Amino acid sequence: MSEEPTYALPQSDSESAPYWEGIQQGELRIQFCTACRRHVFYPRMLCPHCHSDQLIWVTASGRGIIYSYTVVHRAFGPFAAEAPFIIAIVELEEGVRLMTRLINTPRERVRIGAPVQVTFDRVSGRPALPFFRLAE
Ligand SMILES: [Zn+2]
Repeated sequence: MSEEPTYALPQSDSESAPYWEGIQQGELRIQFCTACRRHVFYPRMLCPHCHSDQLIWVTASGRGIIYSYTVVHRAFGPFAAEAPFIIAIVELEEGVRLMTRLINTPRERVRIGAPVQVTFDRVSGRPALPFFRLAE
């Protein structure tokens, strides 16, 4: 994707800043709880498993599987011209799930359980977005 995005990019805040900084460096960062030793996503102050505040940032492998997906045929606003496109829930190797978009992926090859890997949408110096594509 090389054209300027026509949509508003997400805003970073104090909890998510390391996540967005990682993406700009080509890393998918998630949190890890050193108290219960589980990964955490989305960014937050307390571990959702044990309520500890002992969360650190780690770089995820960027590999996962398609947990679920849908093909958007009718979209609104700035996304209308991009339909059809694929929205997916990806389960990372680390065990957390995130909502994303599959790009450069033929619809007929999309299957639940298919291996995917992160790819970064870097647009002329602006913060990039993490998308996924089928793993090779
Ligand atoms: Zn924990």
